[in-house]
Amino acid sequence: LIQLFRPLDLLGWVYRTIRQGLVDMAEMFRLIDTDIEVKDIPGAPALIVRTPTVVFDNVTFGYEPGRTILDRLSFEVPAGSTTAIVGPSGAGKSTIGRLLFRFYDPTQGRVLVGGEDIARVRQDSLRAAIGIVPQDSVLFNESLAYNIAYGAEGADEAVVEQAARDAALMPLIERLPDGFGTMVGERGLKLSGGEKQRVAIARTLVKNPPILLLDEATSALDTRTEQEILGTLKRLEEGRTTIAIAHRLSTIADADNILVLDHGRLAENGTHAALLAKGGLYAEMWSRQASERGKDASTTDEGEAG
Ligand code: ADP
Ligand code: MG
Repeated sequence: LIQLFRPLDLLGWVYRTIRQGLVDMAEMFRLIDTDIEVKDIPGAPALIVRTPTVVFDNVTFGYEPGRTILDRLSFEVPAGSTTAIVGPSGAGKSTIGRLLFRFYDPTQGRVLVGGEDIARVRQDSLRAAIGIVPQDSVLFNESLAYNIAYGAEGADEAVVEQAARDAALMPLIERLPDGFGTMVGERGLKLSGGEKQRVAIARTLVKNPPILLLDEATSALDTRTEQEILGTLKRLEEGRTTIAIAHRLSTIADADNILVLDHGRLAENGTHAALLAKGGLYAEMWSRQASERGKDASTTDEGEAG
């Protein structure tokens, strides 16, 4: 198996950057084009996460002066719980993830992980503490084993296998003549959207971070595949602090807390039941999506999974 873990043939800078957790950011290439200005404070200590809480404390942010994207946003994700972020496209949901990874610093306010201001610790240590499953995961033209272990060099075979098992990849792997050694990606075996997301989940299981960011992790999948992947994601979420950005509200209805973002502001928050009872923006989005689901169910033979 050792020979499958060949070093990436990329420029050193790109290599180091992706190692720090950029690999799964859908905006990877856009970010690499940009001059990343965020720098570590000289002598900054490594982040040590004892209790994996996430706090946004009065955060204001804009990509360019004069255009506020997040406006005095405050919320707290208790350790081990799941907070969902919903809202219209362009509301600023993914921006929250980018600030959590510290691709940018807030204009005002602070982001705290485990009680520490993330601007005061080393970025590599911050990024090591957070796993991300994005909408579209990046696969390299390498073996399946390499892709699963990516970002956790030295992970041993047993850990990779267990992650593949937990991500429900074994039925696929057992069908392949080269098993874990099968080359995937553009120049190898093309995986389906659902299979790619399972690789991303397995990769995150190997990384084993205390904090998890799911950015529309299932929104590119058809409804049946989405249902299958949601079960696997639940396993990944177990025992971790999770922020789940979602387009389809049915996928996050069981979150401990749901933040409804509108034009960079926290419009409302609460559990699914409380937000429905409130009859506000969330309730409106829910009934709109429910009628769309109804339409889907009558035009295809896929029933609602509940
Ligand atoms: P969401 O994930 O809720 O759809 P985003 O957080 O991606 O929204 O984006 C919020 C707003 O910020 C959008 O208006 C988007 O166009 C803008 N935006 C996102 N990335 C950048 C960037 N790199 N530079 C300038 N504006 C951006
Ligand atoms: Mg987004």
